[in-house]
Amino acid sequence: MSDMNTANETRFENVACPFCGLCCDDLTLTARGCRVDVVANGCELSRRGFGAPLPPATALARQATIQGDTCTLDEAIAYAADLLRQSRLPLFAGLGTDVNGARALTRMADRIGAILDHMNSDAMATNLAAVQDNGWITTTLTEVRNRVDTLVVFGAGIGSGLPRFYERCFSNVDTLFDNSTANRRLYLIGDEPLPAGVDPSQVVRIPSAPQNLVNVATTLRAILNGNTDRLTPTDGIPMADLQQLADRLRQSVYSVFTWVAGDLDFPHADLTIQTICNLSRDLNKKTRSAALPLGGNNGDHTFAQVCTWQTGYATRVNLATGHPEYDLHRYSAARLLAAKHVDLLLWVSAYAADRLPPAGELPTIVLGRASMQLDRDPKVFIPVATPGIDHEGHIYRCDGVATLPLKKLRSCDLPDVHTVVSRITEML
Ligand code: SF4
Repeated sequence: MSDMNTANETRFENVACPFCGLCCDDLTLTARGCRVDVVANGCELSRRGFGAPLPPATALARQATIQGDTCTLDEAIAYAADLLRQSRLPLFAGLGTDVNGARALTRMADRIGAILDHMNSDAMATNLAAVQDNGWITTTLTEVRNRVDTLVVFGAGIGSGLPRFYERCFSNVDTLFDNSTANRRLYLIGDEPLPAGVDPSQVVRIPSAPQNLVNVATTLRAILNGNTDRLTPTDGIPMADLQQLADRLRQSVYSVFTWVAGDLDFPHADLTIQTICNLSRDLNKKTRSAALPLGGNNGDHTFAQVCTWQTGYATRVNLATGHPEYDLHRYSAARLLAAKHVDLLLWVSAYAADRLPPAGELPTIVLGRASMQLDRDPKVFIPVATPGIDHEGHIYRCDGVATLPLKKLRSCDLPDVHTVVSRITEML
């Protein structure tokens, strides 16, 4: 990474972006005082994430508070430690942070016996339920970029949630093996908009309502496996399109099926994912095929990796029982809060100022990105630095195989999550 300083501006090349699961590592940014701008290779999400203004040092949104009154960082940390010490069953949620922050949080949860649940766990749980029941054969962003010849998208959410996916992994000109990407085909099953920058002649659209995706995938499996005599297609299943897709998949050298779990927001969406994954399983008998679960933001994949190596489970883990106890249903933050099974909430959101703790009367400690505007004063608010802008760190990509180093782009006196949580833990 080369950084260049002029009198007023520092320019950073090849910067990793933490604002979605792709973690693109080719951004060019400039920092001028506290202002950070994406000047090349970004997208709207990254421009918003890096460009969110840091409130002035004197602004309330940048002060630690206890019940709404400003205080020193030391006082806020001591008060948070008191609350945690008195809690019988605390819930640590949000958990939007980097590797070091996640490590500190799991360590503190283990010390005092807390339940951990990331803010994006509903989407994670959909994928986890699918892989627990069925297994899957997955690939990586790099493999897709270099090898895919047929990419099948189920549902939507890629263009909006991972804006540069098609640019970086489908329409890229260069591949490691000198394969031409001009012959690639993109099948959009669902309602994903036509991606900008993709040649429309490479795209086939097969509209489907989200709840019907499982029927479409099941029908496609039946065609691929030659079970058409038992097919009873229902209205809305485009048989001719699926027949053509099946032919293409049989001839493909490397097909990939992908989806964004957070976009499959309907009951039993894990069964849809299982069926999609079974398509690649079937195809692997004669050719090569894989699944690619996409999605992620706010450090969800990072937290899942750290939580897995620390506890054995990715999220929704109870560390209050003397051993890690995992249950996707019982340890959902929403369910625990609704049932009043926890007596304290620690909410962490270091990337997004607009990811607020759930509303309610529960005593709450918030470690939030400076400028977070809360509807009610929590017991403690500590503004924290943002990884990849205010401090260095590491973040996991959504395919789980690459950890990207994050850069400090400006000087900022805010503490990072790791520091705050470690200091609280020392007082427990
Ligand atoms: S696609 Fe995602 S990782 Fe890439 S620049 Fe945009 S927000 Fe950042």
